[in-house]
Amino acid sequence: MDKVQEFERRSFELADLKSALAALSWDQETMMPSRGAEPRARQLSTLAGLYHEKLTDPALLDVTEAVTENGSTSWESRSGSELKREIEKAACVPRSLVEEIARSTSLAYHAWVEARAADDFGAFAPWIEKIFSLKRQEAHCRSAGGDPYETLLDDYEPELAVAELESVLSFVQPRLSALLERIVAAGRPVTDVEGSFEPTAQEAFGREVLTAIGFDWESGRLDRSPHPFCSGFSPSDVRITTRYSETDVTSALFGIIHEGGHALYEQGLPVERFGWPACEAISLGIHESQSRLWENQIGRGRPFWTFWLPRLQEAFPDLADWSLDRFVLAINRVEPSLIRVEADEVTYGLHIVLRFEIERALLAGDLPVEDLPSAWNDRMEAYLGIRPPGDADGVLQDTHWSQGLIGYFPTYLLGNLYAAQLLAAARGELVDLDEATSAGRFRPLREWLRDNVHRAGRTQTASELMESVTGSSLDPSFFLDYLEEKFGALYELD
Ligand code: ZN
Repeated sequence: MDKVQEFERRSFELADLKSALAALSWDQETMMPSRGAEPRARQLSTLAGLYHEKLTDPALLDVTEAVTENGSTSWESRSGSELKREIEKAACVPRSLVEEIARSTSLAYHAWVEARAADDFGAFAPWIEKIFSLKRQEAHCRSAGGDPYETLLDDYEPELAVAELESVLSFVQPRLSALLERIVAAGRPVTDVEGSFEPTAQEAFGREVLTAIGFDWESGRLDRSPHPFCSGFSPSDVRITTRYSETDVTSALFGIIHEGGHALYEQGLPVERFGWPACEAISLGIHESQSRLWENQIGRGRPFWTFWLPRLQEAFPDLADWSLDRFVLAINRVEPSLIRVEADEVTYGLHIVLRFEIERALLAGDLPVEDLPSAWNDRMEAYLGIRPPGDADGVLQDTHWSQGLIGYFPTYLLGNLYAAQLLAAARGELVDLDEATSAGRFRPLREWLRDNVHRAGRTQTASELMESVTGSSLDPSFFLDYLEEKFGALYELD
């Protein structure tokens, strides 16, 4: 059998195992009865073991190298190089360390849940120490002598240099702080969107919006889960979930639009290439750009609600007397707050800058774990002007460190930055974007994203994508300009 065929056969096996793992995990979060947990943990671990075995088979490396060097199309050679990176990553970390990380993160997750509930940082501190030490060892195995943060960042945002990330964040932070200061000083009163909202009606409305933005129901589903997420088993089977609040209609709705943006990316990957390693999203940052573009930059905009508010009011008579202006201001309330996942578009980036600085110092050993709460609280005060009353609403709020996800946080902010730059490029080509959005026509934008971002899969890096689609590498001023214009108008800043 020729090497390309052999590569294809083996890549497909890996893709199938990944899909099976994703399907079992989706089921675990949505449908599985509680007693299924124990056997499910074993099923997942068996499949993960099989995946690792197949990934590190020397025969796979041999055909992967052949395809990387002699691939006749960019799909082949890029698939080869992507898989080669994954194989090398898996091969250079000793099995004992992989198992130790898996065991520790699973225990640390439960310790974190309890410590957060009890507002007890001391109970979780030893786990932070342990996880950061293990991840430091992992980074050392993968790139001895390199910057460990850069090595770990590569898992989520491949090929982004930490120096570039640092310069982006230090450019973004002062302009976000300055904008926040002006908004707070303006003191515009904002009302909450309150009422009684029946979950079935919320779901029906969410489905209508998803249909309009181009979600393909023959290749996807919407279900409920405690933590909303999107999971693609293949481009023709993409699942999203949400949860409903009976008093707040916006929470589930923006969650649905957010996950819908992720889903459009997954559904937009070229299905005929499914199984090839390059038929995947480029990075978490680019994935997040798709969700945030739809959720915030389109979904929280005035043109979007020009079309959708009358429909929302029809579905929920409690909102009948809301004007468009009042509604758009309400869904764009800017206010320093303690919790990242509830933060608005302006303060969100400051939450990320804080986490980046802290996890970088922790990983480098420059910040002792016992000083973590005060370092956190001091930065909250410096960037947002508020101080958490306890660690549950401070340093203990996010699950990421307990799960060993170090270097992950920056991708959330990168998503916002990529989204603004991509949308600016789309605006340049789709002259009547706001007009189309106000009329409920989303097809032109979706098709633009499909052609320019989704269909290329992973045949280019994030920076190659930005260069080819927008004409320049990552430039945070697009996002800052967008925020200053939007919130300048909303809050009537001069
Ligand atoms: Zn997301």
